[in-house]
Amino acid sequence: MAALHVSIQAQILNLFIKLRDELDLTYLFISHDLGVVRHLSDRVVIMYLGRIVESASADTIFAHANHPYTLALLASAPKLEVRRTEFFAVKGEIPSPLHPPSGCHFHPRCPHAMPRCKVEKPELKEVGAKHFSACHLNDGTA
Ligand code: SF4
Repeated sequence: MAALHVSIQAQILNLFIKLRDELDLTYLFISHDLGVVRHLSDRVVIMYLGRIVESASADTIFAHANHPYTLALLASAPKLEVRRTEFFAVKGEIPSPLHPPSGCHFHPRCPHAMPRCKVEKPELKEVGAKHFSACHLNDGTA
């Protein structure tokens, strides 16, 4: 989709939505484009280096994201309402998925990383109604 002109992309997205509604379809839609994800999805699953880090309704993800990686993604997405272009890129390089970091895969790039993040994999836990996040910050222990 990213290689398509935006007008063609919009036509295809609208066709997806029309077919979904008319034929009562369910899509598994994989994208890095958060604007498209928001437009098309009822439920969103955020992955980092092969692990699910957050899952919730699209409304919840875009209004009340919990995981530091999701928050960084949202902060780095271009916003239509902001006329000047501001980017808040996630710091650091993406590690190799063949040799991911220990503990929480996101710890080398996370602004909230603490010692346990390097050694302990955070489990996906419910942090709200049908809202799941895998982050030690949700345990309330630093
Ligand atoms: S578990 Fe630690 S490193 Fe991973 S996202 Fe949470 S605070 Fe950051």
